[in-house]
Amino acid sequence: MAKEDTLVIHEIYASIQGESTFAGLPCTFVRTTGCNLRCAWCDTTQAFYGGTRMARAEVLARALATKTQLVELTGGEPLLQPGALTLMTELCDAGRTVLVETSGEADVSRVDPRVHRIMDLKAPGSGESHRNRWSNVEHLGPRDEIKFVLADRRDYEWMRDVVRERDLARRTPNLLASTVFGKLSPRELVAWVLDDALPIRVQLQMHKYIWPPDATGV
Ligand code: SF4
Repeated sequence: MAKEDTLVIHEIYASIQGESTFAGLPCTFVRTTGCNLRCAWCDTTQAFYGGTRMARAEVLARALATKTQLVELTGGEPLLQPGALTLMTELCDAGRTVLVETSGEADVSRVDPRVHRIMDLKAPGSGESHRNRWSNVEHLGPRDEIKFVLADRRDYEWMRDVVRERDLARRTPNLLASTVFGKLSPRELVAWVLDDALPIRVQLQMHKYIWPPDATGV
């Protein structure tokens, strides 16, 4: 079997989308195994290792079986696996609205243009800020989303400067900021965003409020 004919999968399950402009909508998650970053606050470390190698056709069949209109590839880092690109195209061909959550380090340029790319830009508090692939930003458009996860005021100021200096709001209206759960209060973030009149959508990590904050597979 060619490399792109299989994927290493951590889990496939239906829940609601929690962290984008699609938040709250029913969504099937295809969580791939493996990530080449180690963000200090990562809440999916269970997906770093293990997983099951599956034929791409089986992953597709299972993702379609749940019948949600939205399907999201997440991880780990889905774009590390060559089969993810084809899988996303097949999901689009099947009429699904497809999202991919990606770290900002992996190259997003080859993702099917029908896919909504939800791309992180890693702030200093993650410990992985030096891994941001800035050329990715050039490939993003209005259907895509840029997400910041902030641990403290320093992260906020970093985001503010990046948004302004790179004029990110001209690229996409979907600029999202959330806080590291238990580290930075969303209320503080709201006050800072208002003070600076930043064109940012403040969001909560919805799953952490619906289920216990450390719950997985939800
Ligand atoms: S990129 Fe995502 S999965 Fe990888 S370490 Fe960071 S938060 Fe975790």
